Amino acid sequence: MVFGKRKAMEEPANLAQSFARLIHNHGPISLLHYMGEANARYYASRDPLGAAGDFITAPEISQIFGELIGLWLTDIWIRAGRPEPVHYVELGPGRGTLAKDALRTMKRFDLEPRVHFVESSTTLKDVQLAAVPQAFFHDDLSTVPTTGALLLVANEFLDALPVRQLVRMETGWRERLVGYYEERFLPVAGHQPMDAAVPEARREAPVGTIIETCPGAAAVMQETARRLAEQGGAALFIDYGFTEVRDGSSLQAVKAHEKVDPFERPGEADLTCLVDFATMKAIAEDCGARWLGTVGQGAWLKALGADARARALGQLAPQHATAIWVAKERLCAADQMGTLFKVMGLAGPDWPDGEAFNGPAPGVEVE
Ligand code: SAH
Repeated sequence: MVFGKRKAMEEPANLAQSFARLIHNHGPISLLHYMGEANARYYASRDPLGAAGDFITAPEISQIFGELIGLWLTDIWIRAGRPEPVHYVELGPGRGTLAKDALRTMKRFDLEPRVHFVESSTTLKDVQLAAVPQAFFHDDLSTVPTTGALLLVANEFLDALPVRQLVRMETGWRERLVGYYEERFLPVAGHQPMDAAVPEARREAPVGTIIETCPGAAAVMQETARRLAEQGGAALFIDYGFTEVRDGSSLQAVKAHEKVDPFERPGEADLTCLVDFATMKAIAEDCGARWLGTVGQGAWLKALGADARARALGQLAPQHATAIWVAKERLCAADQMGTLFKVMGLAGPDWPDGEAFNGPAPGVEVE
């Protein structure tokens, strides 16, 4: 008897259909589950970055971004006494562009760290390996070496991690879940009382108040801070977010550079939330890291010499000088990415202060 060859892998089921079936059989699912699976599917199935994709990120806009990150890391590493071994660790490296620009800059100062990428998408791993062939891959931080200083970077990583939301109803606090009615996904309040999960000071908030938390971001912050405390090193978390505690849902979806309904086509759009930098700082400090500051991306890049670098690049390629300047402005201008995006710096307890977290460095020209 001859058996037909089985297909090596099942055709990936449409995520909307599997969610609909799950909800039909077992009731609404948590927003955490919905966002986590939707983003895992989204990133696994494509390279979403760039003009032809769904969104563009700072390293894809200008090489100045990765170069100045490389410079910042080099500077703090030199002032920490050039510890070896040293590891460059990047969380969610996208196309590997930031790492490539940062590592090239580091090399000019004889800093050649081992490279570790924490990445879940096999599609993007291939792109990253082409950009940075020496990279080692990890599913999470737990397998990154536990000896040697860490120079860690995460740009637009925390905002992709799934959130949990609680909503204040007449009857108390409930988890915000995702239901499926009349062929549509939509947020619904769960039945189970969740009052105990809300800090006492915020329990009496008005009906309709939403509290959003990101357990994955909290876990990453805890692990990073513990590692910095034990191994030494520095970390930069760059993302769009806020520094004062605030209420409300910040969930949004982006598809082809436009905002779309996050509940419309799970797995087909990028789901993101704003990063709560106040909570990130509190966790990092609790776990033994030094918080160096959280500042607007524009101020930080300018303090590190973004304008001077843009001018220098423009002189090297005069035909592109205007485009280089416009790209730099996109990263720095207050009405573009300059203030909505924040840079948070952390370091090991014995490491020095970070450059550019307290205004411009001496001798750097700021316009
Ligand atoms: N830092 C890059 C890409 C940002 S997009 C840039 O600035 O261009 C988010 C990145 O995080 C992607 O590489 C995505 O695949 C990765 N990612 C998202 N969720 C992840 C998870 N849970 N674990 C590991 N990587 C994840």
